[in-house]
Amino acid sequence: MNKDILTNSSLACMRRCPRQYFYRYEMGLRPETDAAPLRMGTAFHRGVERRDPETAYKLTDDLEAAIIATMLTGYVWLYGNEEPDVETEMPFEIPLVNPDTNTASRTFVLAGKMDGIRKIDDTRLAAKETKTTSDDISDGSDHWLLKRYDGQLTLYYIAARYLGFNIEAILCDEARKPSIRPKQIPELDEDGCKITVDEKGDRVFLKNGKPRQSASSKDGWVLVSRTETPDEFAVRFLNDIVERPEYYFARREITRLEQDIDDYRRELWQQAKNMIEARKHGRWYRNVGKWSCGMCEYKNICLQNITVNPDMPPVGFVILQNVHPELEGDNYDSKETPSKTAATIA
Ligand code: SF4
Repeated sequence: MNKDILTNSSLACMRRCPRQYFYRYEMGLRPETDAAPLRMGTAFHRGVERRDPETAYKLTDDLEAAIIATMLTGYVWLYGNEEPDVETEMPFEIPLVNPDTNTASRTFVLAGKMDGIRKIDDTRLAAKETKTTSDDISDGSDHWLLKRYDGQLTLYYIAARYLGFNIEAILCDEARKPSIRPKQIPELDEDGCKITVDEKGDRVFLKNGKPRQSASSKDGWVLVSRTETPDEFAVRFLNDIVERPEYYFARREITRLEQDIDDYRRELWQQAKNMIEARKHGRWYRNVGKWSCGMCEYKNICLQNITVNPDMPPVGFVILQNVHPELEGDNYDSKETPSKTAATIA
């Protein structure tokens, strides 16, 4: 009998909101295009695997491509000379075990994909987990506090050991996305002067006849400007990485006690029982709230109580046959990649 797959993502979705889990994993309803953070995170992962900022990403948005190429350039600059991992890209499918009887679930298996196994010194192994984030990753930040009980890391402990790697830590390898964005750059005339125009678009001059080079919102004057191009932005971003690499990249060894692992096994079993119960009764309750619904891709369906016909999904959505496409490798291999050159570090 084929068992249903539980991943860290699907488990987290169920905890966030059972109704969201129903749409996403029971029905397979997905937005036609992935959200930018997912696209960019996947592209960064591919680049880290290949250690190649030039060719590793496949993003059709020029700014997203420039950001990822620059992050990869910084990553390779910092870590490019490291020993390769013992194992890379390790998909796993392991039994979900009842912690009281030690028997495997007849309904579910646990699956996922670890980024790799690496030696952290002569005697110890760690599972490596590379992630992009918008969080503050400095020492003492909440980002690291959350890792203490992050289920994904505990799942990797269980999976690595099941696969025969007696790991003693997870090496959390974090890359922070830029908070800076393309800025406005004043246009210059042939003499190198900034151009100020009034409400009618006519150039503004000082009393001495020289061009005015500053705006005045009181008078309705504006500086003529353009948005920084992705390539210009990449150079500025890369300079910032070189100046403060610790702001953008951080690594920590995160460990688990045997008691933590046992607690997590019990949580997994409890959650699986909740899913079976929800399926049995066809009841997937909503977790309505600002934090749960604010970012939810199903909010316009769910909160307007629209009935979804899987044969005719709502505009902008598709029904996936495989609800865990992330386990199947690179989702972006079929997409066009713009030819793009990454900024380089001298
Ligand atoms: S809109 Fe809110 S209640 Fe509805 S599925 Fe999303 S998170 Fe759940």
